[in-house]
Amino acid sequence: MISNAALLHNLIPNLDELSGDDLVVTSPIDGSILGSLRVDSISEIDAKIAQSVQAFHAWREIPGPRRGELVRILGNKLREKKEDLARLVTLECGKILEEGRGEVQEMIDICDFAVGISRQLYGLTIASERPNHTMQENWLPLGPVGIISAFNFPVAVWSWNTALALVCGDSCLWKPSEKTPLVALACQAIFDEAAHDFGGVPDGLSQVILGTADAGAQMVDDHRVPLISATGSTRMGGIVAQRVAARFGRSLLELGGNNAMIITETADLGVAIPSILFGSVGTAGQRCTSTRRVIVHRSIFDQVFNTLKGAYLSIGATKIGDPLENGTLVGPLIDEASFNGMQGALDRIKPEAIETVGGERVMTEEFPNAYYVHPSVVKLAKQTETIFAETFAPITYVLPYDTIEEALQIHNAVPQGLSSSIMTTDLRDAEYFKRHSDCGIANVNIGTSGAEIGGAFGGEKETGGGRESGSDAWRAYMRRQTSTTFFGREKPALAQGIKFDLPE
Ligand code: NAD
Repeated sequence: MISNAALLHNLIPNLDELSGDDLVVTSPIDGSILGSLRVDSISEIDAKIAQSVQAFHAWREIPGPRRGELVRILGNKLREKKEDLARLVTLECGKILEEGRGEVQEMIDICDFAVGISRQLYGLTIASERPNHTMQENWLPLGPVGIISAFNFPVAVWSWNTALALVCGDSCLWKPSEKTPLVALACQAIFDEAAHDFGGVPDGLSQVILGTADAGAQMVDDHRVPLISATGSTRMGGIVAQRVAARFGRSLLELGGNNAMIITETADLGVAIPSILFGSVGTAGQRCTSTRRVIVHRSIFDQVFNTLKGAYLSIGATKIGDPLENGTLVGPLIDEASFNGMQGALDRIKPEAIETVGGERVMTEEFPNAYYVHPSVVKLAKQTETIFAETFAPITYVLPYDTIEEALQIHNAVPQGLSSSIMTTDLRDAEYFKRHSDCGIANVNIGTSGAEIGGAFGGEKETGGGRESGSDAWRAYMRRQTSTTFFGREKPALAQGIKFDLPE
């Protein structure tokens, strides 16, 4: 098997040049050091932004379908590097290899999607009220797009933004999570290869900015970056949104979730239980779309909790471990702070819990410098504000309800609005749910996590309101222009019938 050092050098040929003492990158798998990097200084970030502006001015002149060709090459490079990149995703953020592969596949999928979009950047022709006038709505390239990403989807989020931004004629600046900078550098190297094969790509069309929150904040405050696409906690989004708004920039926010699944009395539990498990313990509960609350009809409440309890105990006994190993379903938490956050949440809910399974740290002998946990399922009599905050760890709260209206009330009571799901065979409950869920995603007989790139992805309320990837999300990366043209030979009429006759 390839060593970590060889993998890193294959994926990041210029790694030695980027090394330094500022940012020590460790693997959550065992706490080992993967690399140590130099971060960008304030003046280097300034220069990268200036270069991004230059690159934008050149790139916007290239026709959209031709820009799509660069993204097609990028997608093919990602196909070639899929296995290596997936392995580095797993090494750096700890998700199981199968999910690492899924994440890279998502990058490939969005590239394919963006290539198609590159020929469909269409506007409108609108009926004018005036004779001999045409009115159009045009979509034009926007400028440098600043991308801030979280540790848990360390590469897919970049590709959702970059593939679309590039075909839309924009340049990109990426400030990845300080916990996962190596996969970002690997993506940059893959982009550089694609740019080389394409030929004539302006320097700095896509760049990585390495650093912590301060580096992100510098980009956020810079008026040369018209769009900030920020993925991460609601805490971060609250700061970024205000700072971008203060300079009249635009922000696209993909923030935290507190996702729930409703299980009605008619649900097929053969469908529901595996969906809860993938949604709750997959990625060790570290997805923005992870299932955090399961709202169950009272008639099957005990049955569902007991089935989940059995499944969690069995996963705890056999399926937690090294995410690179086949058969592991639950890898480590990202770090100690994340483990402490989980313990804090379990302490807070203790007085309200009827029964709690799991939650403890495991595998301490095999991995003393890493944080593996037994996923936890907590039985509650009702929902209180104690569980209104997102805990980014595998804790699932199970709550009863009596009527579908009450289920939706419980569901919508939290401040976040990302993903939601109902398990039911009753069409009436399914349709009621779709109309009343206040989330950006509302699934029927499908769990809360595991979205396809074809749909617009994002959520409401404290999740931030942004939409990325499929559908018409490309519009976020362009500016809209309304253009009216007069083509008559007589004097043009004014709108609203206004007369403004000059003296003869
Ligand atoms: P985080 O908020 O700690 O960090 C995310 C990114 O923001 C990092 O790159 C960080 O350096 C940067 N950052 C932090 N403060 C900043 C500031 N003031 N200005 C500019 N940049 C700043 O989040 P995390 O722990 O890496 O990720 C987990 C969180 O991300 C969870 O809340 C999860 O739900 C959310 N998330 C949301 C989505 C989504 O699509 N809605 C996807 C993935 C993760």
